[in-house]
Amino acid sequence: MKIIKNVLDIKRISQERRAEGKKIAFVPTMGGLHLGHLSLIKMARENADFVIVSIFVNPTQFAPFEDFDTYPRNLEADSEMAISSGASVIYAPSVKEMYPIGYSTYISVGRIAELFEGEIRPHFFGGVASICTKLFIATRPDIVIFGQKDFQQTLVIKRLITDLNLGIELLIAPTKREANGLAMSSRNRQLSSEEKEESSIVFLALEEAKRSIQMGERRRKIINAIMHKTLREQSNIRIDYASSALSDTLETPEEFLAGEEIVLLIAVHLGKIRLIDNALVSIPYQGF
Ligand code: AMP
Repeated sequence: MKIIKNVLDIKRISQERRAEGKKIAFVPTMGGLHLGHLSLIKMARENADFVIVSIFVNPTQFAPFEDFDTYPRNLEADSEMAISSGASVIYAPSVKEMYPIGYSTYISVGRIAELFEGEIRPHFFGGVASICTKLFIATRPDIVIFGQKDFQQTLVIKRLITDLNLGIELLIAPTKREANGLAMSSRNRQLSSEEKEESSIVFLALEEAKRSIQMGERRRKIINAIMHKTLREQSNIRIDYASSALSDTLETPEEFLAGEEIVLLIAVHLGKIRLIDNALVSIPYQGF
């Protein structure tokens, strides 16, 4: 199998493909692959000639008390799945390869990375932006594919690509869900079957808020309250945030305006697992 472990090799492979005139797509992942990841790889394959998938559990985006040690790891099985979905090569560097002794450079993206997830997990987007920059430089893609599942992450990456003039096209793939609405995630396999059932409340809360907007609700407080009320029906859930914002800036006006696109953002804890989800919705010109 084509598993590349070091940065010089992946740089060379990418350079050779580019010299052949091939269009390169890159899909960064932390492994624990599921159908959501595979849909990104398929999208990459449909839009490029050569697809690099990285599998790297990035320590700098975990706080010391978070689940870095228990994060699912299965390189062989993940690589097979990725290759059969269209990956041309797997890049799976070690932590030492990415962060050798003395490593000290970090990327800070600014305001868009400080809201919502950034507020709750202040270390997170710095880690994401830094590792993505390193991976982009090593793989030099024409296109990168990220999932809407991590909505704020797509905004952070967009900002990063723009600000550093990376000249990479960003494609965003829709969220793949379980039958009960739960957004697929590598961490879901750690949910008990009871918790899995309870988790459907997150999707329900998004749907309730969406419905209210489609019926004419524009007041942010009310939209947020609808999500909170629905989530509270499930006593095992602890809410980090259930909120709404403008989808391009994540700014939070008191009232949204007709024609604006907004994002509903939810992060909750269910048992030991943290779940995040979101939905995009446009404010209609009239309530009906
Ligand atoms: P991760 O391995 O969790 O870092 O995710 C790697 C990429 O897969 C990110 O761009 C995620 O947004 C994306 N992703 C994760 N879960 C899903 C999902 N359920 N549907 C679509 N994309 C996803």
